[in-house]
Amino acid sequence: MSMQFGPDYVRAIAPYQSGKPIAEVAREFGLEESKIIKLASNENPLGMPESAKLAMQQAVAELGRYPDANGFDLKSAISAKYGVPQDWITLGNGSNDILELAAHAFVQPRQSVVFAQYGFLVYALATQAVGARAIEVTAQDFGHDLVAMAAAIADDTRLVYIANPNNPTGTFLTAAQLETFLKAVPQHVVVVLDEAYNEYLAAELQYESTDWVRTYPNLIVSRTMSKAYGLAGLRVGFAIAQPVVTDLLNRIRQPFNVNSLAQAAAVAALNDKAFLQKSADINAQGYRQLVTAFETLGLTYVHSYGNFVLVKVGDDDGAGARVNLALLKQGIIVRPVSNYGLPQWLRISIGLPEENAAFIGALKTILG
Ligand SMILES: *Cc1c(COP(=O)(O)O)cnc(C)c1O
Repeated sequence: MSMQFGPDYVRAIAPYQSGKPIAEVAREFGLEESKIIKLASNENPLGMPESAKLAMQQAVAELGRYPDANGFDLKSAISAKYGVPQDWITLGNGSNDILELAAHAFVQPRQSVVFAQYGFLVYALATQAVGARAIEVTAQDFGHDLVAMAAAIADDTRLVYIANPNNPTGTFLTAAQLETFLKAVPQHVVVVLDEAYNEYLAAELQYESTDWVRTYPNLIVSRTMSKAYGLAGLRVGFAIAQPVVTDLLNRIRQPFNVNSLAQAAAVAALNDKAFLQKSADINAQGYRQLVTAFETLGLTYVHSYGNFVLVKVGDDDGAGARVNLALLKQGIIVRPVSNYGLPQWLRISIGLPEENAAFIGALKTILG
């Protein structure tokens, strides 16, 4: 028998499948990198804001020193923007870091964590990484069934993950639904409200979850700079929660988890209202472009509130993989979601108008 290392629950973890990098697809399919279109990781098609690029260039001079472990400037910018004191803020190496910190801070091995079917895969990974038990609650119309999730909370449940909007389905929960849920959750159960796509919500759907943090001591609101702010490669996210919870997250956080360049860029991006507006506008435009094409092609899709759309590309369980491969051969990278139990579907990140058009053209040829 070969030697086995580590706990069973670590060996049971299925590695996270990220979007294929452009260079890898170029090598595999013998394509030119510059001709490849990547609509696979919900990145901002505008790239990073110029303001952030400038801030990073200035920060380069100080790279011989450690980053500010307390992230004073970045926390100040977050504090000013969201009206919360600095000791309510935790910085993360991407919001992925925040999601993991929450599991490590609040859950012991064999206790349970509640999340939704088709919920962001990192919830399952973070749960497994601490040896906890996952309680996956059946989705309702591809989204969270909050009534069922509240009912699923067990005596040993310590954490609930909710994504709003959700990835990969794009579904949205209203402020009223969320508040009803927060009222129903026992005080000792921590709720992570993961709002990675919040900045894409139309004005009439926006709600102030940071206000709820004042009311609910067990609530953590998680945000990221990776999507609408265009800084996915830098890895910056943050959590807002009351000081007792924030203190625990910060005790287990690596002291220098957000590097100096990332901190400088994030401050600039947070204050760049014009870039954020442009990101939301181009996203709304691209969404209409994609769903109009899906309707023309007679394809079923899930109405999305994020920067991506989940679309059904066939009725057999090989459909997602087959269409994905055909798209790759044409230099278009999208995201298969069979690992979410959705083998007939693909998730398409919304790109620039010409990128969306190239994808639509390729899809028409493949399905035509
Ligand atoms: C993209 C995403 C994140 C986080 O991404 P980071 O780059 O780690 O900040 C978190 N939650 C959801 C639902 C996402 O889709």
